[in-house]
Amino acid sequence: MTKKLQLLEITKRFGSFTAVNDVSLEIGEGEFVSLLGPSGCGKTTTLRLIAGFEKPDAGEILLDGAPISSSSFVLPPERRAMGMVFQTYAVWPHMTVYDNVAYGLRLRKVPQTEIKERVAKIFQTVGLVGQEAKYPSQLSGGQQQRVALARALVYEPEVLLLDEPLSNLDAKLREAMRFEMRRILERTGITVVYVTHNQEEALVLSDRVAVMKDGKIVEESHPETLYAAPKTKFVADFIGLANFMEGTAEAVEDGFLIVRCPWGKVKCVNSQLNRVGDRVTVLIRPEVISLLPASENDSGRDVNCFAGVIKEASFTGSIVEYFVGVGSDENGTTMRVQSPAPRMFSASDRVCVSFEAKSARVVV
Ligand code: ATP
Repeated sequence: MTKKLQLLEITKRFGSFTAVNDVSLEIGEGEFVSLLGPSGCGKTTTLRLIAGFEKPDAGEILLDGAPISSSSFVLPPERRAMGMVFQTYAVWPHMTVYDNVAYGLRLRKVPQTEIKERVAKIFQTVGLVGQEAKYPSQLSGGQQQRVALARALVYEPEVLLLDEPLSNLDAKLREAMRFEMRRILERTGITVVYVTHNQEEALVLSDRVAVMKDGKIVEESHPETLYAAPKTKFVADFIGLANFMEGTAEAVEDGFLIVRCPWGKVKCVNSQLNRVGDRVTVLIRPEVISLLPASENDSGRDVNCFAGVIKEASFTGSIVEYFVGVGSDENGTTMRVQSPAPRMFSASDRVCVSFEAKSARVVV
């Protein structure tokens, strides 16, 4: 894939505070990359650096291989062929939907016939055909969001930058718009950088997700990889639900690591190439765990099989959420388990908690 955007060792400071710290990221032509992370981790600042609203203190940003930002030169935002949609997308209330989208083209003195063609095409793309004469107040939140998207796309930018564009919508609409947004942007084939603190949104929309923390990219990968095989405890915890077990590596067996935990042995993927004697943290996702009645426990099995007691069982529709106490009161932990409905166990039931070695992995 040709490289559209390249961030090379970008640093941005505000006074003595480093908001973006040595960030490198490459985004291919037509790729959809999300910057995901908790509040204040530097996502918006990174996006503003890409847009040209901020000047880096160090590093360089290239568009199609040509420098657009460095500590000594910043190509102004209006000369970058980039579109932006912000959280407060504020469509103009006194203008019709058509005028909201056509306005910028008129300012740029685009001929009237071309404006009509471009606006019609973009309305088709974002699904606003038939709404042209309405005012924003006559539209739903999702439709207003599409107006904002159309307004950015009508300039035919090479790169679209989106900063939490769905966060003003209510939860249900926000969820529906994820899929809609993906369809719309796939149709355009445009390169997208998308800022969000919502992990599900990032997973649904993106080809690749860069997870940020304290101004740095901690991990970047495809959504499936980040979920199934995170390298760090931070990413494992930020994306999805996680159980962590601390222990000491005891042996390497068939390529797997055997870890001694206070309440039993865990056999897991040795993803960090740990050695015997190392202290390690093991990640086990709630949905990879099976629960069996304690009476059916395979007594010959001494790894990845712990005696436990159900503390809570909650029916949530398609799945049942269990909180299971394993180990003794002094030396135990609570594991979260998600099983398909119906509910098989109730509070105080004795169970066996088990999982496959390939479903547990070491994180740092
Ligand atoms: P959020 O999800 O809350 O928007 P974010 O990850 O987008 O967070 P940024 O807006 O990039 O975070 O901010 C990163 C850090 O830089 C924050 O601590 C913020 O207070 C600080 N910061 C951002 N802009 C400025 C500024 N102009 N002056 C001083 N500090 C700033």
